[in-house]
Amino acid sequence: MMSETYNIGLGNNNSEIRKKADSDFVSFWDEQAKNLSWFSPWKKTLDWQPPFARWFVGGTINASYNALDIHQDSKANKPAILWEGEKGESRILTYRDMWIQVQKFSNVLKSLGVQKGDRITIYLPMVPELPVAMLACARIGAIHTVVFSGFSAASIRDRIDDSKSKVIITADGGYRRGKIVKLKEVIDDAIKDLDFVNNVIVLERTKNKISMSSKDKLWNDLMKDASASCDAEKLDSTHPLYILYTSGTTGKPKGVLHGTGGYLTHLHSTFKWAFDIKDSDVFFCTADIGWVTGHSYVVYAPLLHGATEVMYEGAPDFPDASRMWDILQKYKVTIFYTTPTALRMFMKFGDDIPNSFDLSSLRLLGTVGEPINPEVWRWYFKIIGKEKCPIIDTWWQTETGGMLISPLPGLETIPLKPGSGAFAIPGVNIDVFDENGVGVPPNTKGYLVVRNPWPGMLLTLWGDDEKYTTVYWSKYENYYYPGDYALKDEDGYIWLLGRADDVLKVAGHRIGTAELESCIVSHNDIVESAVCGIPDDVKGEVIIAFAVLKHGVGVNSDNLEKEISEKIRKDIGAIATPKQIYFVSKLPKTRSGKIMRRLLKAIASNEKIGDVSTLEDGTAVTEVQGVFDEIQKSIKEKSG
Ligand code: ATP
Ligand code: MG
Repeated sequence: MMSETYNIGLGNNNSEIRKKADSDFVSFWDEQAKNLSWFSPWKKTLDWQPPFARWFVGGTINASYNALDIHQDSKANKPAILWEGEKGESRILTYRDMWIQVQKFSNVLKSLGVQKGDRITIYLPMVPELPVAMLACARIGAIHTVVFSGFSAASIRDRIDDSKSKVIITADGGYRRGKIVKLKEVIDDAIKDLDFVNNVIVLERTKNKISMSSKDKLWNDLMKDASASCDAEKLDSTHPLYILYTSGTTGKPKGVLHGTGGYLTHLHSTFKWAFDIKDSDVFFCTADIGWVTGHSYVVYAPLLHGATEVMYEGAPDFPDASRMWDILQKYKVTIFYTTPTALRMFMKFGDDIPNSFDLSSLRLLGTVGEPINPEVWRWYFKIIGKEKCPIIDTWWQTETGGMLISPLPGLETIPLKPGSGAFAIPGVNIDVFDENGVGVPPNTKGYLVVRNPWPGMLLTLWGDDEKYTTVYWSKYENYYYPGDYALKDEDGYIWLLGRADDVLKVAGHRIGTAELESCIVSHNDIVESAVCGIPDDVKGEVIIAFAVLKHGVGVNSDNLEKEISEKIRKDIGAIATPKQIYFVSKLPKTRSGKIMRRLLKAIASNEKIGDVSTLEDGTAVTEVQGVFDEIQKSIKEKSG
């Protein structure tokens, strides 16, 4: 594996934490949980009845209390959220503002008969009322289930039906690329045949015309007379905080259920270790709250710490490719957390754009969601971080609740390796197994496993313990199986190599999609790539690759294909050479921005495309269809 390292950290060196964690992970997490405010202490730190883990059993706590109430003495006037609208408008909400809004909205929910344990679907754009609604649910013990506001009626209907939400919170519309997305209309359509839905609360964001039925109530009308005082419920540590459906990269989304005390402990700890959060920081995570990154690192973790954060409403490249850098400069952001997909897009636009902004406030950068290609890491380090900010490549899933693998500059200073998430966080034990459950030697590919339960671990899949058991706990007994492919190098650094489902099997060799794609992206003219295996009469399976060219690069595809193939032969080996490379302008992605290789595979092997519910939405479907057509055309041209 590549030994390129970057010696850049923040000067922290706290080796005690790792020592304690290694000696006994249960009492280690017991210690960490004391950083939160509990109404009453727990009796048992971990109740582990595989595959079900329950943390801090017997303790009572409230997420909204820990996010807001605890800051009212010292930080009432500190901004919690610096909100930037897509059209450029700003709103600042202090910790006091949030506290008042949340209590009022908790009373609104109560007035509609919402009780502890009830599910509430939230379908809102990225406006401050979204975290307000979530925290209000948490305050009274209702289980929120946020659905990304880009989903279509059919997708949202499935999720409302699965969770049996009695109350829906939505808006008249939301802004996306200057256009109004009519959210209320989508909800009307989604709940047509769902009689169990009693109330729809409608926030007026865009003031477009909507039709109101007897179930519908306006947010402002309800809030007008609501009392601003609502005590936080004393909830069991294991009380469910939310259901969140996974992004569906590999198929039908799963309803991940998270608890309270363990989840919050995990977030409080990782936010401090990974981001080195200080009172003076301005944190900006670009994730939509509709995904787990938004739940954990936009809503809960920053507020637990009383941090100030930027929340942005719109598309990252609207009205143009400079929007993100403009926001970083405007709010003097110190910590920036985004996705490889977004970075590849920014990279495609060239260096001049970020170079024309003052990004000197930045001190730490992070990524999440997909493996980051080393080429992209170096660009992020140099062009955005000006070679002075450590980059944390954080690996985790909806199911894990928070980060499990990441460099932790807030805790320790280690050499960074572009493309590696470095080590497991303290208190988490990660290994790489072969097919038979045996740990593999260094530099050998295998399956990532987690050896013991961790506080942010999902409780189960909503209403489906059996599926929970089969998906995560049946490949290896009593070890959590995330479904990702990985290796540990000679220094123990963990490299994520892509999804186990996407692994390429060529002539008995297993090749991770991430390593091959990174090799292709390391060519100067290429910014993004996806590879997949397709059936072949002679070889069983052959690799095909898709590549997106940099802006302004013309295709002389024969030459380019040769150059790329040579690079692959040199860096990985002849075995990994694709049978064909197709040049396209974009790749099909989930709404969370992840490449859907199984779709490429289906198109290229002329198979049915399967479940695309996570791609659904008016514009996304046409966009993806366009990509399909383009790919199909280029495949035909090649073979004809
Ligand atoms: P589904 O499970 O429905 O297919 P999903 O896995 O895309 O959806 P998420 O929980 O949002 O939904 O994504 C988690 C996955 O994202 C991980 O399992 C991993 O494949 C990938 N991932 C996240 N962070 C990283 C990272 N830093 N490096 C490599 N892969 C990552
Ligand atoms: Mg997944």
